[in-house]
Amino acid sequence: MNDIEFPIAYQDIITRIENIHPIQYAKTRNYLSGAVSYLSPYIARGIISLPLVANLVLKKFTRFEAEKFLQELAWREYFQRVWQAKGDAIFTDLKQPQVPVKHQQIPTALIEANTGIEGIDTAIEHLYETGYMHNHARMYTAMLTCNIAQAHWLAPAQWMYYHLLDGDLASNMLSWQWVAGAFSSKKYVANQENINRYTNTHQTETFLDCDYDNLPLEHIPEVLLSTTPVHLQTTLPESDTLTMAPEEKIFIYNAYNLDPLWHKDEKGTRILLLEPTLYARFPVSKKVIDFIISIARTNIPDIKIIVADFKDIFQPSQKNNIYYKEHPLNTHYSGNEAPRDWLCASVTGYFPSFFNFWKKIQNKF
Ligand SMILES: Cc1cc2nc3c(=O)[nH]c(=O)nc-3n(C[C@H](O)[C@H](O)[C@H](O)COP(=O)(O)OP(=O)(O)OC[C@H]3O[C@@H](n4cnc5c(N)ncnc54)[C@H](O)[C@@H]3O)c2cc1C
Repeated sequence: MNDIEFPIAYQDIITRIENIHPIQYAKTRNYLSGAVSYLSPYIARGIISLPLVANLVLKKFTRFEAEKFLQELAWREYFQRVWQAKGDAIFTDLKQPQVPVKHQQIPTALIEANTGIEGIDTAIEHLYETGYMHNHARMYTAMLTCNIAQAHWLAPAQWMYYHLLDGDLASNMLSWQWVAGAFSSKKYVANQENINRYTNTHQTETFLDCDYDNLPLEHIPEVLLSTTPVHLQTTLPESDTLTMAPEEKIFIYNAYNLDPLWHKDEKGTRILLLEPTLYARFPVSKKVIDFIISIARTNIPDIKIIVADFKDIFQPSQKNNIYYKEHPLNTHYSGNEAPRDWLCASVTGYFPSFFNFWKKIQNKF
């Protein structure tokens, strides 16, 4: 698990999709050592789309063999549709308040990867090192934070988002509140035996080493009592020099549209727009910014990195020349907006549960 790397050349990313084995995936995906795809940084950043991944997998495997993998892809689309429908409400408790909540900070032991639960501490160290955390480890981390340490989910979600190469506000915020019982009917919990099984650890006599009825849901374990407020900041790079010819098309890329095939053969100015206002609101680490820039510079010829808010570099008169993809984070752009590539473009709006959504889209494959 520790030697996972995230290549940045487009062809290597396509090879990663071609290597997915959905049957192995379905059998092992819950184990930290399982055959997961490690595609999330590329999907979250809009380098590859969900339908591209689904179609390549379905070239080699039947719908039946690929079912579990397709369902996981659909989770991302589901969360994006919730975000489109609910807007900024995803940053608040969406279905019901999380209870009980002791504070709005982060347990210090979490930040220091020192909770005493080895499977979780190793996964946090790995997150700092690589910018990636396995889904099951994310669930364990969130349940320890919200349901055992009784922290409200928002600050720890921002902390995790800051470090993730695949940071996706919808998947992140909605998963945290799903675990905390604010976007689900029941809180998610796991005991030591469960954590040992999936993280390949062998711990006993920890505060989670008990049956489910005896988990410490009322009294916060000593090690999780101390808390730290979050102060996360993004360091943005210097802008490249930008010259725009008056009638030239301007293609705007950002941290969630880095698709090298988009308008590939057309002439125009290509800009990776990093907006300070956005990064002040949703900070990310230097590792994340470096990843985004490397992907852009490697795969999108002549792209300029521009650090500015949309309104400060474009005039309303340039509107007809500007092209970008739709996204909840750029509703303030103006110009020619293209839709994103969806698994099922016709199923939109809010579904209260993933399985309602899945029922609607599953026959599409
Ligand atoms: C607390 C918490 C926070 C999370 N934060 C993020 C986040 O910021 N960004 C992010 O991309 N994912 C997030 N996830 C979802 C999930 O953990 C990752 O997408 C997944 O672990 C990525 O690894 P992978 O590509 O190897 O996934 P695989 O298991 O190989 O899945 C294939 C693809 O399906 C999609 N997918 C799989 N599981 C999920 C899921 N639960 N939700 C949404 N999409 C999914 C992803 O696009 C993924 O690349 C979070 C989950 C939890 C529990």
